[in-house]
This record gives sequence, C-alpha cells and structure tokens, in this order.
Amino acid sequence: MTVRVRFAPSPTGMFHVGGARSALQNWIFAKQQGGVFVLRIEDTDAARNKPEWTEGILSALDWIGISRGSYEGPYFQSANAGEHRAAAARLYESGRAYYCDCTREDVQARTGSQYQGYDGYHRDRGLGPGPGHALRFRTPDEGTTVVVDLIRGEPTFENKLIEDFVIARGDGSPVFLLANVVDDMTMGITHVIRAEEHLPNTPKQQLLWEALGVKPPVWAHVPVVVNEKRQKLSKRRDKVALEAYRDEGYLAGAMRNYLMLLGWAPSGDREIVPWSVIEDEFRLDEVNLSSAFFDEKKLRAFNGEYIRALPVAEFVDACQPWLTGTGTIPPPPWQPEEFDADAFAAVAPLAQTRIAVLSEIVPNVDFLFLASPLIDEAAWTKTMKDGSAELLDDAVAAFEALESWDAESLKSTLEAVGAERGLKLGKTQAPVRVAVTGRTVGLPLFESLEVLGRERTLTRIRAARLRLV
Ligand code: GLU
Repeated sequence: MTVRVRFAPSPTGMFHVGGARSALQNWIFAKQQGGVFVLRIEDTDAARNKPEWTEGILSALDWIGISRGSYEGPYFQSANAGEHRAAAARLYESGRAYYCDCTREDVQARTGSQYQGYDGYHRDRGLGPGPGHALRFRTPDEGTTVVVDLIRGEPTFENKLIEDFVIARGDGSPVFLLANVVDDMTMGITHVIRAEEHLPNTPKQQLLWEALGVKPPVWAHVPVVVNEKRQKLSKRRDKVALEAYRDEGYLAGAMRNYLMLLGWAPSGDREIVPWSVIEDEFRLDEVNLSSAFFDEKKLRAFNGEYIRALPVAEFVDACQPWLTGTGTIPPPPWQPEEFDADAFAAVAPLAQTRIAVLSEIVPNVDFLFLASPLIDEAAWTKTMKDGSAELLDDAVAAFEALESWDAESLKSTLEAVGAERGLKLGKTQAPVRVAVTGRTVGLPLFESLEVLGRERTLTRIRAARLRLV
C-alpha cells in the first residue's frame, strides 16, 4: 500500500505557522514512507475564501521547501462537490442518515437544556428530503469508536455520546465534516496528520468512513502551537503568518528547522541541524503530547545563527530583497541609484554577525547610501552633551590631517582626540557615530567610516557640529 498523506488548508487568511508545521510533518512522513504528499485547498467556505490566500499558501509552501510540482495537486475541494452530494445521498439511501427539520429551539424545548445535543427526534419519523430538511448521520447507539492515532495511541469514544450530527444542511449542501472525509476517500488518503483541534471531529469522521464502506485512515493529531501565555496562537492576537516572518527576513531553513522543533527534537541534544537529519530522524510517534510554545525570541536567535552560517556571498544575495524592496517587502529609504554594491559588499561581513533577521540590514547600512544620515532624534539628544561640539571639531581636524583613510588609523586618531579630554574610546566615538550614521548602535564605526570615505564623513561631522551651535 502506498502511503498517501494530504495537507488540506482552508484559504481563509494568511498562512499560519501551525499550518506550515503540519505541512512539513506530512511532507517528511510521506518522504520517509516512500509515499505521496497531496495538497488540497479546502475552499468550500465561499464567503471567506479568496484566491490570493490560495496563492499565498502555494508560495509559502514553496518558500519552506514544499515546492510546486513536487507534490500531487493542488486539488480544490469545491471541484469535488458532486462526490460530496453523492456520498450524502448514499448514506441516506442506506439508512445511515435521515432528514430532520428541527430547529435548535425545537430541540431545546424538548430536552429542556440548551447544552444538550440533538435528541434523535426524527430518527424514525420517515421525513423525506425537502427545503430546510437537514441530513443527520445516525450514530450507533452502542459500542465505541476507536481511533488509531500515531501520536495519541487509541483514543476511544463512546458512540452513545456522539449525537446524530448534521452531514448536509437544509439547502442540501454537505458540511465540512463530510466533504473532508469524501475528499480523503476519493484521494486515497491513508494517513491524516493534522492539528489536535480536529480531534473532536475524528470519531464522527471515522464513523462516516465506516458507513461509506471504506477502511478509515490512520490518524495523527499534532498538539497545537501556543504563545507565551499558553494560549493557542491566534491570528488576531499573535504574529502567526508565515509570510510575515518571511518578509521580516527569516531564512526558510531556520524557519522550517524551528517549526519541526515544536514538540520534537533530534537526537543528541541538538537543535540546529541539517534538514536531512530532521528528515531522517523525525518520528510522528515521538511528538510531544503537550502543546508547543512558539517562542519568537528563540526563533530569532536561531535565525541569527543561520545567517551567520551563510557564506558571505550568499548572505549578500539573501539581503537583496530588503536592499531593493521586492514584492511585499517595502523599499529601503535610499533611491536605487544611491545604492553602491561595492560599499555594501565591504560592510556585509560586519553586518552578517550582527543581525538576527535580514530586514535589519537596512537600518545598519542606510547611512552608506543616503545623502545625509537619518538622524534618530532621541539618540542625538542622549549623545550630544556639553563638549560634544568641541570634540567633533577636534575629530574633523584630526581626520583631515590623516594620511591614510583606513579603519586602524581612524581609530587611533580618534582615540588620541578622546585621550586629550580624558575620555575612553566609547565615549569619544558616540557623538561621531551619531553624526555620521544617525544612530547610537550599528556596525563597527571605524570600518564604517573607511567605507563611507573621507569626504562624506567630514561633511557629516561638520553638519552635526553646525546643529550644535
Ligand atoms: N481545512 C481544515 C483546516 O484548515 C483541514 C482539516 C483537516 O486537516 O482534516 O483546518
């Protein structure tokens, strides 16, 4: 039997990091089993679907390494609507489902409770199809439904506690629960690996598989991803969109490595490992049962390590979208013609060891390309103190006299300027840094001045000096 798994997102918003994790788990499982990964877009909620969300899913999957053309699909759930209806009809004809026209209020009036599920009123009343008649599945009165779950063992559900649930609405349209089963069935899915939040649906879905006469799949319900307050990650509250991380400059390699560590770890107390190790070692049955904390700080640190591990030339390439502004990445503050690739290449190794996400490259290098630096006013006020004006004057004089404009000479020269005032280098260079780059933090100052060049450095220090009059 060929293993067939599927990833079945609904295109109703940005692509959730939790979804990306499920996709990767499915992907790796399929690869390990010599199986097939199917992508199915569950687009039956017409009111909430948008084609751009589908495109977002495809491109986000591509980014994370599940590339277009290397899987089966995408299939669209809406294209299978005929099959969904046919399955509903088969269940009715075989007596496994029946029509019901009760409203919620009717049920409440009979059971005396708003919390009670459906009471089976129409089970044997022989109501036929008609407008407003929902189709309900006749769940068994006795016995249990045992779900085989690679992560949870065998969760067992008492059938008598499962109400006769709706499988098609009063307008005849099948509900998600049924459509999802029918699609898995027609696509020959053998293993359903998905988020834990679907577990309550699983006994119902398994009953549908059985009633439709097909052996149910093996399930794996992966614990949810939570924030630092142990709340399920929500798109309203938390930063969950994979696209947002991509645009901020997380590397795909770091992201997918981190996602796979949510609730699982490779052998040997390691976290950052080559993808091939994850592909070899990942086991669904080792996934932790408790919810996994999505720790953005840790992800940042991870990403920094991935950035530092890049060969410099790759780092330079990886920065390009932020240096030019591509697609959804905003343009940098300088004009394209102001950009100087050689100057960038000269400082790139310095930046590479200092940034954690690629978008941080922009504030680190903008001083090199802008005609005058973007002054951070708070930094200016904090740094420019009594004596700064004179210090800048002395720095200008000393720099003008420099024979060789290189980092080492710049450093020893400024050190001497400070020493005359009894200042350490840190204090001496702070006003110079703010004058030249506009900021208090950034790349090593003297290397920056070397690349910026004598003329521009002096112009900026003089301009700052004038502001201090
Ligand atoms: N479309 C469902 C979702 O996005 C998938 C359900 C499933 O994987 O079975 O949550």
